[in-house]
Amino acid sequence: MSDDGERSTPGKGLVQGLAVTLKTMTQRTTTQQYPDVEPELPPRSRGVIALLEENCTVCMLCARECPDWCIYIDSHKEEVVVPGAARSRQRNVLDRFDIDFSLCMYCGICIEVCPFDALHWTPEFEYAETDVLDLLHSKDRLGDWMRTVPPPPAHDVLGEPSKEEATAARKAAGPGAATAAKTARPAARRPAAAAPPAKAAGEEPAKAAGDEQAKPGSGEAERER
Ligand code: SF4
Ligand code: SF4
Repeated sequence: MSDDGERSTPGKGLVQGLAVTLKTMTQRTTTQQYPDVEPELPPRSRGVIALLEENCTVCMLCARECPDWCIYIDSHKEEVVVPGAARSRQRNVLDRFDIDFSLCMYCGICIEVCPFDALHWTPEFEYAETDVLDLLHSKDRLGDWMRTVPPPPAHDVLGEPSKEEATAARKAAGPGAATAAKTARPAARRPAAAAPPAKAAGEEPAKAAGDEQAKPGSGEAERER
């Protein structure tokens, strides 16, 4: 129908508009009444970065890789006397670990590169300030965010076990099981049944079967084992 025809039907636009209104009225509302109601954020939301201080070895990787240079770390060395050791050892003690969230662009690189799982994302986002200088979070405040870090997601049941899990399972099974697993692996990877070569016309089936039994490495012998 042409535009002229549509315009000629009186009240059609009004009915269409009312139909949309009625449809919307009967749908479930999705408005979240924040701040009266806390939003349900996905567990991997990037709200703020939390620091687990005891895991930090002051390796400085996060500060070096941060594209915004907004991580500030200071530390000093401390002598640790190990009983029975010939010399005392040294360890880094964290004096300062600050993140300036007025510069941070929430790329997550610092969390990715940390080799000791000292940094974590938390979905907490309510830390707006009236003074931009207050967005510099010290290590105490970053450590405080740890209570809002959600638990890690469950492992994928179909995924490969981690290196640690595989090592623990090998140790639990004992050294004999580890050796057996090593020797059994090549046999398991061997093709299950190599197709016997096509018999020449006129060859006796009984002889062929006998030959097959005589070959210890044949596919049939493997299957019987
Ligand atoms: S999230 Fe990115 S920008 Fe923010 S502190 Fe970490 S590395 Fe720097
Ligand atoms: S990368 Fe991790 S362990 Fe290294 S200084 Fe940063 S938070 Fe600490």
